Amino acid sequence: MQMQKAFHFDSPPDPYTADAAVLCCFDQRIRLAVNKFLQRREILRPDMIVVAGGAKTLASPRNDFERDFILEQVRMSILLHQTPRVFLMSHSDCATYGGLAAFGGDREKESAHHKTELQRAAQLIKEKFPDVEVRCFFVNFEGVFAACGENAEQVA
Ligand SMILES: [Zn+2]
Repeated sequence: MQMQKAFHFDSPPDPYTADAAVLCCFDQRIRLAVNKFLQRREILRPDMIVVAGGAKTLASPRNDFERDFILEQVRMSILLHQTPRVFLMSHSDCATYGGLAAFGGDREKESAHHKTELQRAAQLIKEKFPDVEVRCFFVNFEGVFAACGENAEQVA
């Protein structure tokens, strides 16, 4: 049976090499910031791994399945698209952490916690995939902050 065309759009069909595998939360509030940041970093062909919690799935997974599934996605990106680097991201007020409320509304406390989480996630990626470059970032409602792999300064 023939499928009915629901939408017309011309996409480039050529194979590609990914600029990065990007693990981030599906929270819609940070999507535009993440997209703009990636463009600014010239990550024009990202393999997006978009799941609830983003880097939390590696740092504090709910179970082994969750962590292993995400590691497999990273492995596939490297295998299929020769991905040279991995960006790990988490964000402020993430519901999977109980939001900002879980930190008593304290943004400093929240970002410090996320920095530790991101560094743990980065360590796991480095152990599993020693040849890829790892960068991690915390996204809040004002921009994107480097949490490891480069100077911990505001980068966008
Ligand atoms: Zn989230």
